Amino acid sequence: MIKTDFWSKPPLILVVDDERTLRLVLRRVMQQEGYEVVESMDGEEALKVCQQKDPDMILLDAMMPGMDGFTCCAELQRRLGEDCPPVLMITALDDGPSVDLAFKVGATDYITKPIHWPVLRQRVRRLLQTQWAMSQLRQQVERERLLTEQQRKLTEDLEKANEELHRLASVDGLTGIANRRYFDGYLEREWKRAARHRFPLSMIMCDVDFFKLYNDTYGHQAGDDCLKLVADVIGRNLKRPTDLLARYGGEEFALVLPETLPEGAVYVAEHICQELRERAIPHQGSRISDRVTLSCGVATIVPKNESNLRELIKTADMALYQAKQQGRDRVVFKSCS
Ligand code: GH3
Ligand code: MG
Ligand code: MG
Repeated sequence: MIKTDFWSKPPLILVVDDERTLRLVLRRVMQQEGYEVVESMDGEEALKVCQQKDPDMILLDAMMPGMDGFTCCAELQRRLGEDCPPVLMITALDDGPSVDLAFKVGATDYITKPIHWPVLRQRVRRLLQTQWAMSQLRQQVERERLLTEQQRKLTEDLEKANEELHRLASVDGLTGIANRRYFDGYLEREWKRAARHRFPLSMIMCDVDFFKLYNDTYGHQAGDDCLKLVADVIGRNLKRPTDLLARYGGEEFALVLPETLPEGAVYVAEHICQELRERAIPHQGSRISDRVTLSCGVATIVPKNESNLRELIKTADMALYQAKQQGRDRVVFKSCS
């Protein structure tokens, strides 16, 4: 009796032979082994039964009227390919060419008539076990493939979510430019780089003039739209990949210009103010113009060991304050002490 822990249900054997008596004997022997049995009397019928019952193994007589065993086996291979159950050919022809032909058309093994029953039992059992082991292996490989694929997908999703989180944490929601948080980190990194190489580091502080009055005149929503436009105008003036524009707060914008001397930074600030004038965004509430204007404070530093990053920000802030004091819509430069 076959070990029952191998299969969840008894294996199904398809017996194909034109001799009724032999079919009966084969059926009895297979049933004694604990297998279930279906029968066919020729190749044509075997193909049909195979399709309907999906047997685990086929005992196939080689010589039959109508479609013989070789043709039937070849046809099974053609139709089922890898899913074809193992075929044990039963042949009276123990000559070399028949054996060769059996293997050529895809038989897994063969046995000769008259049947030696203990050999048949062993062969069938061995083939079923091999088939079972192969299917287990295939399932295992497929499970592992799915798992690897799931893990890969999960890692990819996580990385994407992380990137998006980082991006969201660095971007200003209204204007889409960098936010204050990102600006602080960026300025610090550029500060260190400038200190290492003794490069000049410039920054520009920009503040929209009479913006409270803009809101009062046109409403807060129009104010938001105006800030987006101003960010766009300023952004167009960043020429180097290392230049950074950020929303510093409310209606204030800040720029970091690494490796830039005072003249260069002032030039950029002047251009920004000029372009904003040319953009001619109406501002009826402004006390100095009929369009939106900016005041800019510019500062430059070549960081030394004892100097401080705050000094640069403070000086740019002071320059901005002076620009406001001197009448707004202008650029003021101040040297760091
Ligand atoms: P000054 O020329 O001296 O800079 O005058 P100001 O009115 O621009 O300056 P103040 O600091 O008095 O007012 C800034 C205004 O900017 C007040 C605030 O309501 C407005 N504001 C700040 N952030 C936003 C924003 O995100 N959207 C809008 N619509 N308004 C903002
Ligand atoms: Mg302000
Ligand atoms: Mg302002």
